[in-house]
Amino acid sequence: MNDIPKKGKVYLVGAGPGDPGLITLRGKFLLERAEAVVYDHLANVKLLAHAPAEAELIYVGKKSNQHTLPQEGINRLLVELGLAGKRVVRLKGGDPFIFGRGGEEVEHLQEAGIPVTVVNGITAGLAAVSSLNVPLTHREHAHGVVFVTGHAKPGDSGTDWATLAHCAREAKLTLVIYMGISSASAIQAGLLQGLPASTPAAIVQRASLPQQRHAACTLAQLVDTLQAEQLGSPSILVVGDVISGLAQLQDGAEGARQAA
Ligand code: SAH
Repeated sequence: MNDIPKKGKVYLVGAGPGDPGLITLRGKFLLERAEAVVYDHLANVKLLAHAPAEAELIYVGKKSNQHTLPQEGINRLLVELGLAGKRVVRLKGGDPFIFGRGGEEVEHLQEAGIPVTVVNGITAGLAAVSSLNVPLTHREHAHGVVFVTGHAKPGDSGTDWATLAHCAREAKLTLVIYMGISSASAIQAGLLQGLPASTPAAIVQRASLPQQRHAACTLAQLVDTLQAEQLGSPSILVVGDVISGLAQLQDGAEGARQAA
């Protein structure tokens, strides 16, 4: 921890999913020593209290379709701050390298010769599922996990949901879908081509925050449930047998407790 250079370095720090207690100790340490903090709307503003009073705090927004500063502008800003010799914390929701465009920021900084270090954060997909006490993998129900985005880059055809569904079924994979709310109908229709209608699904909104809400349903009921429960962004969609698997385990545990 003593290796922090005095000037001119950018740290991409994962803010975690929302609960300010879920940042890493390393992330907090770096915030406490930042000269500039560049933060997104998904990073909890309470974390800014860790920064020194004299630190420059720069909000760059980034709700989808509502970018306060476009990504190119953020890349340029980070380079400018780095060249100005600042010790910068780029605070990003969740983990910087999971759908956070952190890779692009690192590339720009490296091209400009500015040292950059990435500090992981707890990604929303992990927090969402853990908040339901559901494991992402399970010896009986899921041999792996896919983190996938429901929001393709403009002009990109995006994920082939039917193919993904076939893979998930064959290989017993849990699907954790980020940014899936606005394309939920297409996601549901595609997944139903390869997974049974009865596959368990869940939607978790604002995971780890006091406003967290969730609903559980089947894959066939996903869109109807989203609408009926009025669940919107930011949410994680989870599809896979782990959800029902845990319910059975919990029933079993409950039964065992009652029998004891
Ligand atoms: N880098 C972030 C993801 C950024 S993409 C991470 O690792 O978590 C933004 C998407 O993340 C949102 O559209 C939503 O799908 C998901 N997300 C972020 N925070 C969330 C939260 N607290 N609860 C549920 N979903 C969340």
